[in-house]
Amino acid sequence: GVTTRTPFIAGNWKMNLDHLQAVAFVQKLHWTLKEAGHEPESVEVGVFPPFTDIRTVQTLIDADKIPFALGAQDLSTKDSGAYTGEISGQFLSKLSCGYVIIGHSERRQYHAETDEVVAAKVQAALRHGIAPVICVGETAEDLEKFGASAVPVGQLEVALEGVSADADIVVAYEPVWAIGSGQAATPDQAQEVCAKLRAVVASKLGEDAAARTRVLYGGSVKSGNIASFMREPDVDGALVGGASLVVDEFAAIIRFQK
Ligand code: PGA
Repeated sequence: GVTTRTPFIAGNWKMNLDHLQAVAFVQKLHWTLKEAGHEPESVEVGVFPPFTDIRTVQTLIDADKIPFALGAQDLSTKDSGAYTGEISGQFLSKLSCGYVIIGHSERRQYHAETDEVVAAKVQAALRHGIAPVICVGETAEDLEKFGASAVPVGQLEVALEGVSADADIVVAYEPVWAIGSGQAATPDQAQEVCAKLRAVVASKLGEDAAARTRVLYGGSVKSGNIASFMREPDVDGALVGGASLVVDEFAAIIRFQK
């Protein structure tokens, strides 16, 4: 790319690794990167554990000065009150979560999250100074009917409704058919949609925001294909699921060579 956006490699653990496994994993990842001579300034690394791990991971990152960003996988649209089972942005910001994944396809699919719910969660994150990682992407059926970009573009337009021009956000393009399937999009496909998503950021939040905002690709990212995505001018990093759970594999993704 021609800009100075710091690449962001984000590990979405989904419902994997309990808090004890999380400690071992984060320590091992940190030491693996250190051993390899990895420069922390070159790439931002984010880990997104289950809620029950977050306090433990926060304490570890803090105590050992581990240069990883911490994020959650979801949050409530509300800030507090009688909402059994919900977790608010207020709590997450107190645990030093800098990021929260919003609108992941698994939440849209299994928890019936609509574009409007996603937009409300984006507002909830921003209210508490947490950068939303806004996930958008088309299903295989959408792809056949409308092509790759129409659905994710529409999803992002709704998610950015009422967001201010100086807001700190991240966008993740994740074609649903590529998630966990072993069948990643091609770099060309990813570039085409990521460029269109950046144009949505430009039209909603302005050119400065578009130049600054990281747009990630997600869906079957591995150490063997990361470099091909990172070569694309509008792909600023990756949201990694399965491959973020294997220390050596995730470390290799973080250490991608363009
Ligand atoms: P995957 O998942 O890397 O296992 O395909 C990506 C995601 O769901 O964020």
